[in-house]
Amino acid sequence: MSGRILVVEDELAIQKVIQTYLESAGFTVRCIDSGDQALNAVESFQPDLIVLDLMLPGMDGLEVTARLREQASDVFIIMLTARSEEIDRIAGLRMGADDYLTKPFSPRELVARVEAVLRRQRSLTPPPSHSLHFEHLSISPDRMEATAGETFLDLTTTEFILLLELARHAGRVLTRDQIIDRVWGEDFYGTDRIVDVYVGQVRRKLEQAVGDGLIQTVRGVGYKFMDSPK
Ligand code: CA
Repeated sequence: MSGRILVVEDELAIQKVIQTYLESAGFTVRCIDSGDQALNAVESFQPDLIVLDLMLPGMDGLEVTARLREQASDVFIIMLTARSEEIDRIAGLRMGADDYLTKPFSPRELVARVEAVLRRQRSLTPPPSHSLHFEHLSISPDRMEATAGETFLDLTTTEFILLLELARHAGRVLTRDQIIDRVWGEDFYGTDRIVDVYVGQVRRKLEQAVGDGLIQTVRGVGYKFMDSPK
């Protein structure tokens, strides 16, 4: 697979291993070792994906992620964390990382995760293009935009895909597993908690624009998009 990967990792031995494996899988890799360089490197290198260590000198991985998302960057991010407590993973995902890996990890697994995340992007690009129009919301897959009246929803790529998938099945329940398959791909490794985290984020953004109630929780099953088609 091809693509540009930025590796932000201050442990040089780990950085080297990641670089070697990603390059032999066909990726173009640039490595830096501090969070402070990350934003500039994203601008100059234009990566498709960032492998981002959580614990970095200077700006840490969460802060880098938050800054990138603030700038509306939708570059994919896989967070590396030395701590296995779930709270760190969830915090990372809340900040807008697309996946995470706990150290020590196998470099082969990292390559598999990178490919899985990038495949999500690819499966997004070609297909369905017609816009969806609801009473409160319009969604344009082509432009990757969701609007409520005149207001653009400021969604990350993953949040957008989640909203789109729910809206395509408006009025019907999608289970967490179905949502994971459609949004993260069938080879996603994590737990289905990720769905709840992302639904929470999308809801918060919808709430500001159109009030709550558009995404309904179906207890023990999944989620349902409730807006009516126009
Ligand atoms: Ca580190």
